Amino acid sequence: MSTLLEVSGVTVTFDGFRAINNLSFQIGKAEMRAVIGPNGAGKTTFMDIITGKTKPDEGRILWGDRSENLLKMTEAQIANAGVGRKFQRPTVFEAQTVTENLRMALKRPRSPFSVLRHRPDAQEKADIEALAEEIGLKDHLEKQSGYLSHGQKQWLEIGMLLAQDPQLLLVDEPAAGMTAPEREHTTDLLVRTAKTRAVVVVEHDMEFVRRLNCKVTVLHEGSVLAEGSLDHVTSNQDVIDVYLGR
Ligand code: ADP
Repeated sequence: MSTLLEVSGVTVTFDGFRAINNLSFQIGKAEMRAVIGPNGAGKTTFMDIITGKTKPDEGRILWGDRSENLLKMTEAQIANAGVGRKFQRPTVFEAQTVTENLRMALKRPRSPFSVLRHRPDAQEKADIEALAEEIGLKDHLEKQSGYLSHGQKQWLEIGMLLAQDPQLLLVDEPAAGMTAPEREHTTDLLVRTAKTRAVVVVEHDMEFVRRLNCKVTVLHEGSVLAEGSLDHVTSNQDVIDVYLGR
């Protein structure tokens, strides 16, 4: 599998404290990866360095077929290059319908708000329907997003990110607060997404990680403590000690 993102020897220091410490990480083009680790392990900072929100003190991050230097790019350039990020809380436009939310998210030359002043063309309609089908909201296209369930809002936001056609999707605790059927739908959606894109899921819930059935990276004190299948990392004594707080 060819590499999409390669992080090598990255260190991030906040007032002398190393939140990320000589971290190396690689992900392939159509790969799902779960990133786990106790509170303070560096998971959020790890995502921040990939999206360009935080710039490391040391290290290298290379992106894509041309091995572009991600550290030389701004947050907007990184997003345009194909990195999408989903935060834990859904941020959809609650006063707008599902269709309008998806329409605003589609990559188009017009600005997101001016889009709503024009009628959707046939291509836009087809794109919106395909996205709605993908996220399981085809029967709710004209519903105001504020009336969707928590799970549906999360899927809509994933749909809005997919509308941008990312190559890498970073997702923070996607199943938090969901019912069991919603979690199952979320698993299926992420697994399908990872057939054509790289997906990094930061997650606390081990049962959810098990369902993703992917390689797991365990972070601790800003470094990779273990990597491999969930069974492999959870039988690692260092990982057990960290989770038990020894
Ligand atoms: P996680 O997401 O795994 O809980 P974080 O990446 O949020 O971990 O934090 C890693 C460490 O870096 C923590 O000890 C946290 O307190 C510290 N940290 C994160 N951001 C900052 C900041 N802006 N200033 C100072 N310390 C920070």
